[in-house]
Amino acid sequence: MKEVPVPEELKDDEVLIKVKYASICGTDLHIYQWNEWAQNRIKTPQIGGHEFSGEVVRVGKNVKLVKEGDFVSAETHIPCTRCKMCRTGNMHICLNMEILGVDRDGIFAEYAKVPEVVLWKNDPTLPEYMASVQEPLGNAVFTVTSGDVSGKSVLITGAGPIGVMTVQVAKALGAGPIIVSEVKDFRLDLAKKNGADYLVNPAKEDAYAKIMEITHHEGVDCVLEMSGNESAFNLGMKAVIPGGHISILGLFDKNVSLDINAGIFKNITMYGITGRKMFETWYKLSSLLNTKKIDLDKIITDVIPFEDWQIGFDKMEEGKCGKVVLKI
Ligand code: NAD
Repeated sequence: MKEVPVPEELKDDEVLIKVKYASICGTDLHIYQWNEWAQNRIKTPQIGGHEFSGEVVRVGKNVKLVKEGDFVSAETHIPCTRCKMCRTGNMHICLNMEILGVDRDGIFAEYAKVPEVVLWKNDPTLPEYMASVQEPLGNAVFTVTSGDVSGKSVLITGAGPIGVMTVQVAKALGAGPIIVSEVKDFRLDLAKKNGADYLVNPAKEDAYAKIMEITHHEGVDCVLEMSGNESAFNLGMKAVIPGGHISILGLFDKNVSLDINAGIFKNITMYGITGRKMFETWYKLSSLLNTKKIDLDKIITDVIPFEDWQIGFDKMEEGKCGKVVLKI
């Protein structure tokens, strides 16, 4: 942590934010660990972080969406707004995408510059610390809403912070039973607290046999892959019912081997999830939050002072946490 100047110059479409809360994402942890991906992608020196809530303190001359004093968060994938994908309603898969805190300075700072196009005005009644985790909640909402989960059995593989959010979102949208597979006891427990109907631990038991027993030997209607682990993904492939749906948010650190014929013969739909739809997913997550169908207090396990950032990153590394939020 070091002293840096408050950003002075704003582009016409930029906004200066006084950051209030910032939450730690797995991507921030990868940057902190300086893994191969981070070494290839991040140009130092750069301020990290992208999940936040804060107050608008200054706006560029073309900004119309927000004004000084507004309570905001932001989509962190910055679209160019001009490419084919942006112009066809697909800003989340912009061909020239930049990511806050990855390709430009982020929000682990008292002040941050953010372009207007990604800003999201928060409901004033939403607590500031909760508003900082809407971006990952959006990952969960996009994953769950990519198929129809209502009245359907769901297997969620991986109960990290986003997996646990997925449990609540699936429940709020009428899924059941919800089965969570996870290898860490702390996170299985967190999944239970967040409404999972059944827990399976593939490291300790025959997860497939248990899932088949729960689903009367038919298999699950939907699989939501939230772990980025190959064996978890293949468990989902095996356990999904013919005609079922698999949505994949988890990111794998290497190519996975996949029994593609099994998927073909089962006539399954497989759907890759990246980020959040702009801004359809934000309206959905906002509705779930504002009508209190999601309780973020069951997901945010730690709110700690910015100065103690190291404690937050250590907790993330250990996995003994849900969402970790820093008070800036
Ligand atoms: P996380 O790494 O904290 O959680 C993953 C969980 O999976 C961990 O709790 C881990 O114990 C569990 N796991 C590992 N092996 C398992 C196995 N064999 N079976 C069951 N569970 C197992 O990650 P997160 O922050 O909750 O994010 C979830 C995933 O989504 C990560 O892979 C992350 O990289 C990815 N992600 C993707 C996007 C996107 O846009 N596609 C955005 C954000 C995060």
